[in-house]
Amino acid sequence: MGKVYIVGAGPGDLELLTLKGKRCVEEAHCIVYDRLVNPQILSLAQRECEMIYLGKGNTEGGVIQDEINRTIVEKAKEGKIVTRLKGGDPFVFGRGGEEILALNEAEIEFEVVPGITSSISVPSYSGIPVTHRNIARSFHVFTGHTSKEGDWHNFDAIAKLEGTLVFLMGIKNLDLIAGDLIKYGKSPATPVAIIEKGSTSKQRVMVGTLETIVEIAKEEKVVPPAIIIIGEVVNLRSEFNWFEQLPLFGKNILVTRDYKKSVEFAYEIEKLGGKATVLPLINIEPLDIELDIKDAKAILFNSQNGVKTFFEKLDDVRVLGDKKIGVVGIKTYEELLKHRIKPDFMPEEYLGKRLAEESLNFTEEGDKILFITSDISPINTQEWSKEHNRNFTAARIFKTEKVITTDIDDKIKEVDLITFLSSSAVDAYMESLGDKKHDSKIKIASIGKMTTKSIKSYGLEVEIEAKTSTAQGLLAEIKNYYINL
Ligand code: SAH
Repeated sequence: MGKVYIVGAGPGDLELLTLKGKRCVEEAHCIVYDRLVNPQILSLAQRECEMIYLGKGNTEGGVIQDEINRTIVEKAKEGKIVTRLKGGDPFVFGRGGEEILALNEAEIEFEVVPGITSSISVPSYSGIPVTHRNIARSFHVFTGHTSKEGDWHNFDAIAKLEGTLVFLMGIKNLDLIAGDLIKYGKSPATPVAIIEKGSTSKQRVMVGTLETIVEIAKEEKVVPPAIIIIGEVVNLRSEFNWFEQLPLFGKNILVTRDYKKSVEFAYEIEKLGGKATVLPLINIEPLDIELDIKDAKAILFNSQNGVKTFFEKLDDVRVLGDKKIGVVGIKTYEELLKHRIKPDFMPEEYLGKRLAEESLNFTEEGDKILFITSDISPINTQEWSKEHNRNFTAARIFKTEKVITTDIDDKIKEVDLITFLSSSAVDAYMESLGDKKHDSKIKIASIGKMTTKSIKSYGLEVEIEAKTSTAQGLLAEIKNYYINL
């Protein structure tokens, strides 16, 4: 028998997942999730983890809930660790209780991991505290959705509450909610905010009063998920609003690096308030090649992946004792430091050619200089050897494969900016597009000169180019671009 974790995934921002929730995602053999779960949380799972999407949302019960109950029971019976991921908190209109009943009946072990519910966090992300000294001494959370006739709340009682009122799943019944509150005595001038897709880069906040909010919601065409918050605390938003001020707020940025690095880069984008769409267009694999470094006087690295793969292949680090070592790029440098090796030289310019030139100062005529690199790196060892009387040799120990995506337009339809950190990713993008044309509304950002050249060779424009050719450098430029826009 396996085990089921019923985990609250928070309201949308990846980092609002708890540490315990993260562990449950990492350990899962199978994840059952719904519409409200940020897809980036899924990328924390093991590669082999089975992903099962169930649900149009948590609002409609019945059929889908039965299927969810059945699925988690079935998968646990297969001996799997099942993580059932739910938006917000599992017990705040999350139907977590029904799943527990099903698990108990099948005698399956479970744990519940609470999540940050949207009812408090979504207001926070729009600058509205649910309580505030001298303004609101309590808050009350309701569902605005009723499944049956005659099942409506007692608005006579609710209208008399002094605290903040929060309605989840209330958009369809907004007119009823606002109307009944006024009918039973709440002032029509009571402030109301509707927050759509809260804590995500697509967050929208509409503010009005009980009297005006229905009209505003109609005009603005509010769509779920959205929460309604009613009370004087709404007025604090003008002072407390912080999330929408983040530099990449509202921007959807496509990340095209290899999977692992894409996830890291996506995380950096989200820290700046943006939304990252991960679409790895390249894949990096070690090649089955033996390292032969015996006669080399110097060893050169031009990528982080080169260093990583090199040390995976090396069985005794002492053989490096008498070698001169050079790197290009800060990431390559940092990767080397992880192995407690300080390079002897590192050119300022991020070019393999400069690295080769600097190695001359550390070697003599005829010396072998080993360049650790990828299958496609455009280094010209023959030319350098001739020019500099050295024996430059390339050890191409890993390969960069293009990943071609057939449904690329679907993947990028909401994207504002594509980031390219290598020419291979550019090629893979163009191949994925096939006969289709690049949508010129989507801007392009490039990590540096070489990549820009590739992009331009396809007739595309580069809107942003990094001043320093690193992911950090690119991100800094993107941030500048949007701040100054
Ligand atoms: N268990 C969830 C609520 C599930 S009910 C929780 O604790 O948050 C689904 C409702 O939650 C939606 O209809 C909407 O009212 C609210 N909701 C969830 N995530 C939201 C978000 N990011 N922005 C706005 N509302 C959200």
